[in-house]
Amino acid sequence: MNSSPFEPISKVLITAGTHGNELSGIELLNNIKRQPSIAEKVFANPTTLSIDTLIVNKMAVAKRTRYVEEDLNRQFSQEKLSWLAGESLEHQLAIEFNTKYGPKHESSIDLIIDIHNTTSNMGPTLIILESDAFHTQLARFVKINMPEAIILIEDQCPMKQHAYLCTVGKRGLMIEVGPQAQGVLCPDAYLQTEEMTRLILAFCETWNTQAGNVENPEVDAFRLSEEVMFPLDDENNKTAMIHPDLHWKDFHKLSNGSPAFLSFEHQEILWEGEDAVYPHFIGEAAYYHLNIAFALAKLTRI
Ligand SMILES: [Zn+2]
Repeated sequence: MNSSPFEPISKVLITAGTHGNELSGIELLNNIKRQPSIAEKVFANPTTLSIDTLIVNKMAVAKRTRYVEEDLNRQFSQEKLSWLAGESLEHQLAIEFNTKYGPKHESSIDLIIDIHNTTSNMGPTLIILESDAFHTQLARFVKINMPEAIILIEDQCPMKQHAYLCTVGKRGLMIEVGPQAQGVLCPDAYLQTEEMTRLILAFCETWNTQAGNVENPEVDAFRLSEEVMFPLDDENNKTAMIHPDLHWKDFHKLSNGSPAFLSFEHQEILWEGEDAVYPHFIGEAAYYHLNIAFALAKLTRI
């Protein structure tokens, strides 16, 4: 465990509508704003936290679309944030967000919780970008109190190098719940989003009141390794779909020789990559046009 000095979580910003058609977070934040009893339940009367909420891409929400011109959650690289003006609506939004809440990673916001949902069957997933003491203990706390939760670690690069919105905060993480189709609310996804948000805030309160002296037992987690593309022909047309045996099996072990794709001529295409990997974001709607079939993770402990 690292021994860096204790830093409390004082200011928390909860965001949703980074993608305008992901309704669980959008509805939750709207409800928190409209109904004090809901805010009270999710925030649980913290004594050490100041919590703000924000629907980020209001135009995309109004248009019921993921984004208007380009994916907002890929606009927060240091390079893109250094521009004086954005080259797209979302790029501009990112610059304005960074001006208000940033600068990236040196923000006065101690934690940004960015709420998403996925069409993949990932269950309630907590995505963390660092595995320091805070994130390790947070992940354990969430998993212990919500056993169906999945912990996904994306620490393949330093947190600052990610282009995600949540990296504007000193710390940032994402809630990613699925399956939920774009543009609708699935009750399971809503309830799991609400519960995971509540648990993260409850942990922050404990972290503060115990001055970081929190020790929970290790739990299973997954670490992102790579993305897998659909089989394509010379003109970049997909020649296969996700294999029916793999579809909906997010975070199930995929072994060498197991079916991965089914060609449109009904030929099975077997997995020949690394053995014992864990596909997720399987067939995610927002990645289909990018020809991304799924991402892979390795099972680990945190
Ligand atoms: Zn999203």
